[in-house]
Amino acid sequence: MKVAVFSAKSYDKKFMEEAKQKLNFNIELAFFETRLKPKTASLAEGYDAVSVFVNDDLGCEVLETLKKSGIKLVALRSAGYNNVDLKKAAELGITVIHVPAYSPYAVAEHAAALIMALNRKIHKAYPRVRDGNFALDGLMGFDIRNKMIGVIGTGKIGEIFTRIMKGFGCGIFAYDKYENEDCKNNGVMYRPLDEVLSKSDIISLHCPLLPETRHIINEKTIAMMKNDVMIINTSRGALIDTQAVINGLKSKKIGYLGLDVYEEEANLFFRDLSNEVIQDDIFMRLLSFPNVIVTAHQGFFTDEALRNIAETTLSGMHCFVLGHECKNIVKLK
Ligand code: NAD
Repeated sequence: MKVAVFSAKSYDKKFMEEAKQKLNFNIELAFFETRLKPKTASLAEGYDAVSVFVNDDLGCEVLETLKKSGIKLVALRSAGYNNVDLKKAAELGITVIHVPAYSPYAVAEHAAALIMALNRKIHKAYPRVRDGNFALDGLMGFDIRNKMIGVIGTGKIGEIFTRIMKGFGCGIFAYDKYENEDCKNNGVMYRPLDEVLSKSDIISLHCPLLPETRHIINEKTIAMMKNDVMIINTSRGALIDTQAVINGLKSKKIGYLGLDVYEEEANLFFRDLSNEVIQDDIFMRLLSFPNVIVTAHQGFFTDEALRNIAETTLSGMHCFVLGHECKNIVKLK
């Protein structure tokens, strides 16, 4: 099997080559740094499969080019598949597989890291000390112990996050459409969304992006929150109405904001734009606040998670080649 790997970074090459050796899978991997999009789709000519990531474009036009090039399989190195036109893929007879779960610990721990960094102002303290400024003014934090944490979505990542925060001695309110028994047994208190939002000191989002959760954090829901609330989003950018949080930060209703995802991240993240003029004024406004930390979708980025992603992707390809039933096929609903 010959596979064209798009959006390939050095770490993708390393983990995929290692997985290939480990699984003893006779596969040819060609790595392309470029994103898969209409202009680059012809690079897949002569391959059997493509492997892609979150910002690759697998819309109608690209899928048609892939089909003409002989592609039979699209292997996503992510859980999400909102970038794939599944209907078109089914119509063209192209199989789509994904990585349903890799390391929920990676993302939950990153959410905790954002909380601690924002609270103890690590982003301010680090450059200050390097500059020989050892004064503490402006760096005061608060004890996390006894604070109330509001968790929206208590699936794989949300549940682990509640356990981490319990370890800090916090109380946990949660909102989910389906209550998680393990969370309940661990003392998590399920409440209606409005109550979770209005009674929590720190709110962390761990639900998927769906039409009903889009902009779940907006002008109206921010108005319900406690003054000086901390909001953390490691889930999907569009859960938050960015302009509404900017207004909340300006009015000082929101005391802290930690983001690993951003609504318009496809135009920014996973690339070095340090010598470019960033055109997204809303994003640049976010970066101007002293009480905001943005990381560029790195929640998943741990050794364990990348190893899992590579091994699951290659195992899925192996199943496909052997004609075995693959449990990671994305089915058209
Ligand atoms: P999961 O499917 O295990 O859990 C999602 C939970 O959200 C479920 O319990 C579900 O019932 C709940 N939910 C669904 N609709 C809801 C609603 N309207 N309101 C409240 N809760 C609702 O998913 P997971 O593995 O825990 O991942 C959660 C999210 O994390 C993913 O959707 C993804 O967007 C994000 N994620 C981010 C990164 C990163 O690198 N930052 C990596 C992986 C996943």
